[in-house]
Amino acid sequence: MANIVIIGGGVAGLSAGIYSLLNGHSVSIFEKHRILGGNLTGWRRKGHDIDGCVHWLTGTNPNSDFYKMWNTVGVLDENTEVYYGEQLFSYVLGDKKISLYCDMEKTRAEMLAVAPEDEKEINRFMRAVETMARINKVGGENCDRKMMPWEWITKAPDLLFYHSLSIKQLTKRFKNEVIRGFLSALLSEKFSSVALIYVFSTITGKNGGVPRGGSFEIERRMEERFRSLGGQVFTGKEAVKINNKNGYATTVEFSDGSIASGDYMIVTTEPSAAFGKFIDAEMPYSVKKIYDAGDGYRFSSSNAAFSCESDDIPFRDEIIVDVPQKYRYLLRADYLMIREYSNENFAPEGKYVVQTLAICDEAACVDFINYRDNKAKYNEMKKDMAIALEEIITSVLPSLKGKLTCLDVWTPATYKRYTNAETGTFQSFILAPKSIPIPADNRVKGYKNLVLAGQWLQSPGGLPIALDTGRVAAMTVAKLAKRGLPTYLPKKAMV
Ligand SMILES: Cc1cc2nc3c(=O)[nH]c(=O)nc-3n(C[C@H](O)[C@H](O)[C@H](O)COP(=O)(O)OP(=O)(O)OC[C@H]3O[C@@H](n4cnc5c(N)ncnc54)[C@H](O)[C@@H]3O)c2cc1C
Repeated sequence: MANIVIIGGGVAGLSAGIYSLLNGHSVSIFEKHRILGGNLTGWRRKGHDIDGCVHWLTGTNPNSDFYKMWNTVGVLDENTEVYYGEQLFSYVLGDKKISLYCDMEKTRAEMLAVAPEDEKEINRFMRAVETMARINKVGGENCDRKMMPWEWITKAPDLLFYHSLSIKQLTKRFKNEVIRGFLSALLSEKFSSVALIYVFSTITGKNGGVPRGGSFEIERRMEERFRSLGGQVFTGKEAVKINNKNGYATTVEFSDGSIASGDYMIVTTEPSAAFGKFIDAEMPYSVKKIYDAGDGYRFSSSNAAFSCESDDIPFRDEIIVDVPQKYRYLLRADYLMIREYSNENFAPEGKYVVQTLAICDEAACVDFINYRDNKAKYNEMKKDMAIALEEIITSVLPSLKGKLTCLDVWTPATYKRYTNAETGTFQSFILAPKSIPIPADNRVKGYKNLVLAGQWLQSPGGLPIALDTGRVAAMTVAKLAKRGLPTYLPKKAMV
């Protein structure tokens, strides 16, 4: 049995921990924040729960590949109630609306009704969604059947066509502006259209629900599984230095002056927050390649949560609207997602939580971070954002006028402060056109017993990739442990 030290207690850290415990090792997680979860988080304000993460969890369909892993780490089982709204989101422009329903035919019908002039492109796109659902093994009706060799020959060209198109290029193929908005509102326009097809196939394959209780519950269940297997958790431990002896990581020093040691270390933080910082080495080549890629692009968002004092719920799940021109600079965003949580017990009786999310690019993230250097100005800006957001929400949903109270506003500066992500981004690099999402190498030159995990190792990141890189890191450590370590290294994990 080896002692494994994991740095970072997000999904990747918990996953690496659970799989390592199942492999028979002893594991301790060291997390800089006072709670685990990383980006998978939630918090309370004025008696309301704010869900800081999950919009859809890939792998909720029991027939899908990811389900087995979520099951192993304690997130999903046959008793887990999973919420599937009727739609993932609706894009609203004036009095027109198109939704991404769980029922693919319903989405197709709505697209055709709004944009009959785009019939050929709509059908071609939806054909690619069907193909992806089967390649992707999302499970569910019509998605379980394996593709026959001749089907690959006839269907693959459609997907290859979209593989080289960015979402921006994709939208140009459609004449109707509502369809164009619908296709570009969810992901950055720089993504490959295949990423959008992947999301469509996940939702229409009923493989992207949200476990009841949202981010809080997903984190809680993983943490419970980790602890129940004997894993140890140390919070408030920010790694500041990993010491190296003859090519082996020996001890890790924390900002509070404490030190821990283990036979193997798994680092799950954003690589740019680790290499040249607490790891005295260059980023592995395959990771650096992801960072240096010409199309390399990460995103984050500015967000807000409101308490809505009303029985009136004038929309369901999530709508996405255009940000009015006058607020585009303040929010650094073109689109605003507005999500309601009336299906959850997140608010006191008679109220429900409404949250907004405005995706912004990395340059905007850096601006938000710099802005926070002046706390007074930053707080003023957050107040302006709350006013602007309330105005946008009530202009689309007038019945909510006078019923919203802002609970919190947070920005990429918040993500940087809590997770150390270099530019406050919460998702790894986008899947760019023509790129293939191959995971980067998890080994580090000069450290024979140190392994990497985390969403940053594979575009486009997200919860399932964090989960899988954690599993793979545990397998790598298991292989290394079979070979053994030199005798001069400290034997016991200690804090
Ligand atoms: C608003 C929002 C919505 C999202 N929606 C979805 C969604 O719908 N579906 C989806 O799949 N994904 C979604 N994501 C993305 C998802 O949350 C992330 O991909 C995932 O949580 C990343 O997990 P991770 O473990 O790789 O990294 P992280 O969550 O960043 O975990 C790294 C951990 O390391 C800790 N750490 C950093 N530096 C140190 C140090 N020096 N010492 C000790 N600890 C350290 C951090 O505090 C953090 O806890 C969303 C994220 C956000 C913020």
